[in-house]
Order: sequence, then structure tokens, then C-alpha cells
Amino acid sequence: MRFELDTIGVIHSPYQEKFGIPRQPALAPSAPVTLELLPPYNQPDCVRGLEAFSHIWLTFVFHETAARGWQPLVRPPRLGGNTKVGVFASRATHRPNALGLSLVALKGIDTTDGVTLQLAGADLLDGTPVLDIKPYIPFVEAKPEARGGFVDGPPPQLAVQWHERARADLAAWADTPPWLPALIDEVLAQDPRPAYQDDPARVYGIRLAHCDVRFSIAANVVTVLEIVTPAP
Ligand code: SAM
Repeated sequence: MRFELDTIGVIHSPYQEKFGIPRQPALAPSAPVTLELLPPYNQPDCVRGLEAFSHIWLTFVFHETAARGWQPLVRPPRLGGNTKVGVFASRATHRPNALGLSLVALKGIDTTDGVTLQLAGADLLDGTPVLDIKPYIPFVEAKPEARGGFVDGPPPQLAVQWHERARADLAAWADTPPWLPALIDEVLAQDPRPAYQDDPARVYGIRLAHCDVRFSIAANVVTVLEIVTPAP
């Protein structure tokens, strides 16, 4: 069977590229993410009662990588990037149908002009198409006794330090969003490097909230070196 699916909404997030997006939701709670519903789903009736739920499931398409197809075996970063597991034993983006599933906090619903959901902690690229929303039902879905396979527990976090230059870059930018410093800390603490890379001399860059955040990593400490902010 084949199915045709409709995009019901689009994600607006500070993550302008794949590199650096946390590998699961909730790891960077400072990210202000919104989901704008599209016609004909942007009627207040479609979300009536949803405000009573603190968390929602989003089914979405890994639209940026969907065209690359899938493989039966994948190498999860949590296993160091060398060990292979089956695609269905992983949350890899390269999978049949390129469908993603994220549990995110629902902070608010704005129905003044269409319908926009305010979310926190999403692991989603700006522009991600969303196919469905469902409320999270704790008594059915919370399983504290569950086994987590090779992802049993949160990933280790790196310490993050800021070079004076990076702080000055943000201070000089009139439009610095108040949440941006915390988001940079949270994102870099996740160690965005590919699993096999450990080069203290290398300067990495992440596009975050229209800024270019440059950093290096040595001895499990991230140093934020410079932040190239948008031209006025
Ligand atoms: N929580 C979801 C799941 O389990 O299906 C996503 C997990 S996936 C490992 C998370 C990664 O997907 C992010 O780190 C980011 O690199 C990537 N990603 C997020 N949005 C994407 C999109 N629209 N297209 C392609 N990749 C995306």
C-alpha cells in the first residue's frame, strides 16, 4: 500500500542546519520552537482541549535528508559511530519513509491569527514539515521500568566555557535573543562532533538563530571562540 500524506504544519526553530541539533528532544530546553499549523488545519477547533496536555507527540518528515534513502544497518553516534545496529533498532534519520517522532513540551497555544503551538526542547530543523500531533498520555506511555538498549540514560555532557571575544560579539549585537546564551551552552554541551572526530585544533561552526557560533573542543571542554552575528 502507498499513502499520500498532508503537511499539517511547519516548524520554526533556531536550528538552521542539521549539524548541532540535539539528537533527541529535551536536551536543549532553551530552544524556543513554534509549530505553525497550515490551512485547513489552522482552525482553533483542531486544537480544542490540547492546552490541557503538557507534552505532545509530533510525527514529522526528515525532509532535509529524505532523498538520501535508507540502509538496513546504521551506526548510532551513541555507539561511537563504528558499531552497526538495524535501522529499526535506531532513531536514525535515514530510514524508510523518513518519518521522525519527537515528544516535546507544549508551552502554549496562540489562536489570534491561525494556530501556532509554542514548544520547548524540540530536536527539529527550521522548516520541518509536521504530519500529525497527538497528546502524550502519561498513564499509558510513561514506562520508567523500560530498558533503553544502547541509549540507556542521557549522553555525557561536556563543560562549556566562553572566550571573552564570543561574549563581546553577543553584547555588541542589538538583537541578541535573551535565550541564546543558554541555548549555545545546552547545544555545545551535547558534543555535536561526529563520533569519530577528536581534533583539538579544529574550529567548528554551527548556525544557530542566524548566528555562526564558532567553537573548539579539547579534553572534553568546549570553548566558544567567536559568534558571527547577522549584519545590521
Ligand atoms: N526525536 C526524533 C526521532 O526519534 O524520530 C528525531 C531523532 S533524530 C536522531 C534527531 C536529529 O534529526 C537531529 O539531531 C537533527 O540532526 C536531525 N533532524 C532534525 N530535523 C530534521 C529534518 N527536518 N530533516 C533532516 N534531519 C533532521
